[in-house]
Amino acid sequence: MNQIKSTISRLDSQDTLASYREAFLLPENTIYLDGNSLGPLPKVAQRRAGEVVEQQWGKGLITSWNQHDWISLPARVGDKIARLVGAKENQVVCCDTISVNVFKLLSGALAMRPSRFVIATTQDNFPTDIYMAQGLVKQLGGEYEIRYLDEENIAGQLTDDIAALMLTQVNFRTGRKLDMQAITAAAHEKDILTVWDLAHSAGAFEVKLDECEVDFAVGCSYKYLNGGPGAPAFIYVAQRHQANYTQPLSGWMGHKTPFAFTPDYEPHPSVAQNLCGTPSVIAMSVLDAALSVFDNVSMSELDIKSKKLQQVFLSLLESSEIAHLLPLASPLEDERGSQLAFRHNEAYAICQAWISEGVIADFRAPDILRVGFAPLYLSFTDMQQAVEKLAAIMTGKQYLNTEFQSKLQVT
Ligand SMILES: *Cc1c(COP(=O)(O)O)cnc(C)c1O
Repeated sequence: MNQIKSTISRLDSQDTLASYREAFLLPENTIYLDGNSLGPLPKVAQRRAGEVVEQQWGKGLITSWNQHDWISLPARVGDKIARLVGAKENQVVCCDTISVNVFKLLSGALAMRPSRFVIATTQDNFPTDIYMAQGLVKQLGGEYEIRYLDEENIAGQLTDDIAALMLTQVNFRTGRKLDMQAITAAAHEKDILTVWDLAHSAGAFEVKLDECEVDFAVGCSYKYLNGGPGAPAFIYVAQRHQANYTQPLSGWMGHKTPFAFTPDYEPHPSVAQNLCGTPSVIAMSVLDAALSVFDNVSMSELDIKSKKLQQVFLSLLESSEIAHLLPLASPLEDERGSQLAFRHNEAYAICQAWISEGVIADFRAPDILRVGFAPLYLSFTDMQQAVEKLAAIMTGKQYLNTEFQSKLQVT
């Protein structure tokens, strides 16, 4: 035990990202292992929220669209996110939600492959991605259909009747991470356009959209990017497609000249075409501030720490002799994102009991206890304390208490 303690404190003292914890307002006596669902509040974001409401809105009123450059927020925030996902400038804008952005991209991709009628995805993709594809297929009618591929060997299932391949890089339940580079290359061999969902990638590890020659991508900013509940999402359109891509939600903010107020829609000849209505200025300003926490962070360093946190968590679990009670549903280290998933029939109640001890993780139906590892604010000591508490819950079977058994609306 003493040996573990000294290893843990050595890891913390050698952690080059340790100082970032100070950038966040985390409640005391809380270990937050759910930054993959909702990132915590960065101190700069809190300050910006006050400033944008009191000063920019309260005092500046409508002049702030120009004075504080609200109008370019979607592009500026987009470019900040671009760096974090391996994209050069002018390919990402911040807008709407993943759901809405998936609709735009799939519509645009199908229009670019007019003689193909299949959207391919995986059955256990995040439901909203599938639902949006279902809505689009229904609206288009005719021969359009969705084809469900097995997550295993996706490249081997690609055929040249597929117009668009829509995948989430990291499976939200198991944490399994798909090989973006290899799958995108295989899709391109069949002239298939790729749409990648980065919900559990952006801000969690190194993503290389340009290098992988991805066509389109979406992602959200309230998870590992810490933009706040319901913070606006982002959308990526590779430069080479921007001249040929059109999406159907032709709102005025995506117009070439919104303030000319012309009667006919003409898309902006860039990724900005994806803007639809007026941007959510308060939320986007808060996100802009939150992203500045990443200004000097190297994504590869983030990646390394995420892996170390997971290794330490798993080896502590092994040495606490409860590992066999919680079988790991996540794949090996190089094939997973920044989360671990454990299976147990009582996963929901275990999670509730853990929360009551100050360790916040989450549950995903039907039987997954999901643990997120956000390297900017978690320490190795957190891992040790979290596992100690989990071990007590598992050996004492505290999760059987009725107070932990009833399900809340949001899990
Ligand atoms: C969280 C998440 C979403 C959320 O979509 P919104 O429309 O922004 O609510 C979508 N896809 C995946 C894979 C997610 O994990």
